[in-house]
Parts: sequence; structure tokens; C-alpha cells
Amino acid sequence: CCRSTLRETVWACPCSAGFCIAAFAQGTDQGRDLSKYADDSFGEDDKYHVETPYQTVSVSQVRRNAKIKNVIVLIGDGMGLEQISTGWTLNGGHLNMDNFKYAGYSRTYASDRLVNDSSSGGTGVSSGIKTKYGYIGVDDDGNPVPSLLHYAQSLGKKTGVTVTCRINDSTPADFVCHSTDRHEEEQIASQYIGCGVDFLSGGGLKFWKERSDGRDLVEEMKKDGYTFVDDLEGVRSFKGDKFLGLFAPLDMDPVLDRGPVLRETARKAIEVLDNKKGFFLMIEGSQIDDWAHRNKVGYMAEELFEFDKIIGDVLQWAEKDGHTLVIVTADHATGGLTLIDGSLENREVKVHYSTKGHNGIVVPVFAYGPHAEDFVGVYENAELSRRIHALMK
Ligand code: ZN
Ligand code: MG
Repeated sequence: CCRSTLRETVWACPCSAGFCIAAFAQGTDQGRDLSKYADDSFGEDDKYHVETPYQTVSVSQVRRNAKIKNVIVLIGDGMGLEQISTGWTLNGGHLNMDNFKYAGYSRTYASDRLVNDSSSGGTGVSSGIKTKYGYIGVDDDGNPVPSLLHYAQSLGKKTGVTVTCRINDSTPADFVCHSTDRHEEEQIASQYIGCGVDFLSGGGLKFWKERSDGRDLVEEMKKDGYTFVDDLEGVRSFKGDKFLGLFAPLDMDPVLDRGPVLRETARKAIEVLDNKKGFFLMIEGSQIDDWAHRNKVGYMAEELFEFDKIIGDVLQWAEKDGHTLVIVTADHATGGLTLIDGSLENREVKVHYSTKGHNGIVVPVFAYGPHAEDFVGVYENAELSRRIHALMK
């Protein structure tokens, strides 16, 4: 969360993106200037209208008992059913998520707290255990636990992570790193050295290059064979097999300003990772959470739309491939969002938020691909992880 001076005064940052309300009120966000987003220039905070909806895709189901070669996990940070329903209404009653025929519910609580954070929530999904609030890839006693990504590596599969937050923030780190303190971001960033992940993309460059220990992690990764990319042109022209993309000093800007970085890196990741032994890829819609924290429905919806467009791309690819399990879920919901009015015909919503933090209700799990029916039911986030683990060969 918060800068060190605020850390003592805030009980714990509820946010996966690492900002705290106090910092936001001053127009800063881990040093990121968000003042231009703080006014009403982008609609009212609790109302939004979409002029032109985007086209969604339609995919058919693949052979149920086919072997699973690839696993793609898409995490909408803070994306509860309420966020999805809001986006669905705004897009005129269509989302790519409508393609899922198998759905379940994931209980997200942490081992020591009912309402979790992205560290504990993501560790549930990544590593098959419940852990404490603020813990990343470790159990209650602080012992490192392997993630689905690590398991995929042990099977000889290629692996990737692409997000729009700092890559050393909780959700991506839950799949690669281990820490009992999510705020130790320099330390977490250094764990990417030697991690062996083939495709890494996000923000957070500051923690890689402007470090208190003087190390330059980008240079270290280059020595390790990675191509470093920091703009869309670099993504488009990339041809190698070890990708490191860091596109912002901290979190990336909102989607209308940053452009289709996540969508293009997600496509590129699949292209780079696809191989005969298969791959594991985690794609995060990181900033649905951020704007739900700030109770700004327009920005939140645009992040959800970007994430849903990526889901459409992934489903179309998985339909052709036939051996890819696609899971869409969330680490928790955010904002206590309620859809109180709106119109499908006019693509508008009016919402109410009850908190600037997270809330503790079950989140959806959507599954597509071979064995998708295994994900029907009500279960813990850790159980979701164990079910994916059991299917990965
Ligand atoms: Zn959050
Ligand atoms: Mg996150």
C-alpha cells in the first residue's frame, strides 16, 4: 500500500494495486499522479453510459475429455458478479464471458480474516492453500509454497504472467514469488531474477531500476537472455522466447490512456508460449479493483471491458486449440458495488458503493475447455487451485 510514512497509520492497505485512500485523496498513488482522473471529466462517479458497445465473440465447446495441454487463468482483480453485471448492462447485454457454460463460486476469505486482500486471495488461487492477509505464496507460518506456475515449470511447460499493475504487486507475485510482506516490493521484484518464467509483462519499473541496493534488475534479466520491451512497438516486433515488458514506473495508466497493452501482450504471450509441451499463463485485469476502490464506475467498466475483450481473444484461440483449459475468476470483489438502476437498451447504469475497500462475498469461477465441468459447484479459492493442479499434465 501506502508509502512507508502512512503504513503505520493505515491498518492494512485493502488494495491489490497498492494505493491507499489517504494517498489517493492527495492525488498521488505510489507516486503516480492521478489528479487528472480525480474530477468528473469522465462521467459521474456512480453513473455511466456507453455510446457504442463492442462486438462479442461466440465460441463452441471443445471435446470434453481431451487432454489438457495448456492452462490460461484470467483473474479480474476485484471482479465480483456485481462488476460483471454492471459491465454486461453497459455493453447492451453482451459480454464475451457469456460464452461460459460451466460456472462455480469461489469463497475468498483469508486464513486470518474474512475480507481478504489480493495477496491472500491470489495465493489461494495460485497455490492451493488459504493463507494470511498480506502473505504472498507462503503458508501461515511463512513457508514458501509452490504455485500452479511452478508446477507447470516442473512439467516442462512454458510459463507467463501479464498484468497492468506493478509486476511485483500481489496478484502476479502470488504466482512467482514468496513473501510475508507485500510491501517489500524491491525484495519481491528481485525474486524474478532466475525465476525462469518465459513471458513477464506489467508495470513497476521503478522497483527494478531505482533500487536502494543499486541493482539494475532489467540489466540482470537481459544477461539472463530476456529481451526488454517498454512500448507497444516492442511487443509487436518481439520474436524471441524470453520476454520482459515493463511499461510504467508504477501501475500503468487507465486503459483509455495506456492503450491495448494488456490485450496485445496477452496475444503475444500465447504466441510465444505455445509449444508441444504446453504452457501456463496468468492474465490479470489488474485495475478493475483500483477503480472500484475509488468508487468510479466508468473507469471500472472500461477496465472490465478490456479484460472481457481479452477473454474473447483467449476463448477463440482455445476453441481452435482444443487442449486448453481457460479459467476466469477473481481474488475478491471490491467496493460493495450495487447495481441500483440502469437500462440495457440505453446501455447505462446507476450504482451504489458501500465501501472503498474489498467485500467478502463469493466470486464466480468460469471454465471453458476440456474438463470444464469439474469447476461447477461452491468451493474455496484454494480448492479451485487444487482442481486445476489435478488436471494439469
Ligand atoms: Zn484492492
Ligand atoms: Mg491485482
